[in-house]
Amino acid sequence: MGFQDLSKQQKTVSRILVNALKREQLAHAYLLEGPKGTGKRQAASLLAQAYFCQNKDRENIEPCQKCVNCRRILSGNHPDLVWVKPDGQSIKKEQVSNLLKEFSYRGVESIKKFFVIEEADKLTTQAANSLLKFIEEPYSQTIAILITEHAHQLLDTIVSRCQVLTFIPLSKERIAEQLMGKGISEPLANLGAALTNDIDEAADYCGDEWFAKARQLVIQLMEGIMGKSHSPLLMVYDQFLPHFDDIRKMDIALDFILYWLRDVLSIHLENEKDIVYIDQIDLLKNQALKSSMQQVTGRMTAVLAAKKRLGANVNLQSVMEQLVLRLQGGSHHAV
Ligand SMILES: [Zn+2]
Repeated sequence: MGFQDLSKQQKTVSRILVNALKREQLAHAYLLEGPKGTGKRQAASLLAQAYFCQNKDRENIEPCQKCVNCRRILSGNHPDLVWVKPDGQSIKKEQVSNLLKEFSYRGVESIKKFFVIEEADKLTTQAANSLLKFIEEPYSQTIAILITEHAHQLLDTIVSRCQVLTFIPLSKERIAEQLMGKGISEPLANLGAALTNDIDEAADYCGDEWFAKARQLVIQLMEGIMGKSHSPLLMVYDQFLPHFDDIRKMDIALDFILYWLRDVLSIHLENEKDIVYIDQIDLLKNQALKSSMQQVTGRMTAVLAAKKRLGANVNLQSVMEQLVLRLQGGSHHAV
């Protein structure tokens, strides 16, 4: 990944870092904060490459990814770059002091140092304090990157000494695009992107056979409910409930049903660019023809009610039975 890639997802963050690199005015400490899956770790690695790269200059700050420094960072063994992760529940003072000791005694390559602290919200107060003292040494050529999903849990004294870079959630389009870049089909990528804005989580879902089968079953169910070609309840007993056999899975099923109905609504609204089930467009159009917008939104309300019952620990079979009846009820009134 280069700064060009970073700027596609995190425009502001990329601009701030590129400007600082061009002016050779990097801050001593950055706090990379924002939700999971927004590219914080990749950005930290990119900045480290840009910091150590032997082939960059002020004109072109993109790291070359070929020199010995870039390659050592990419393979995770650059001696002057250290990643710290919580040891158990917290990042303890010993972890930080060992790191600092290592930095001062190590057979050093240069006076440049770079460290990255993941889950920085788990720094103990003592660990944070010794870190701060280090960051603030005036002669220090050390860059500290703190990464967190919970910036509000960090001590004010830490946050105030860092330049805060906020990572925003990726757009659905961007996530789907990245998933397709990994070889995932568009219909599955759309669904993964609809379900989560964490790119790693979305990729895990899409790579799982369970997920593709889940999608097929939901399409089949919606076809049955709206088309009445076969008994949807029978299908629920035979295939649906065995596949969605716990609350978490059933919650995903209900989300899939909701996206389906939202797609039908999008067709009513002539907003086809937001369609998730892109390969089912004919079926969706057919269902939009057969039901009014009011009926579709009524069905969406029924799905939300089912999600709520799920949260209240009602048994899965009864949640689905009631939902199917309510969804079918909607079509009886079709004009
Ligand atoms: Zn390089």
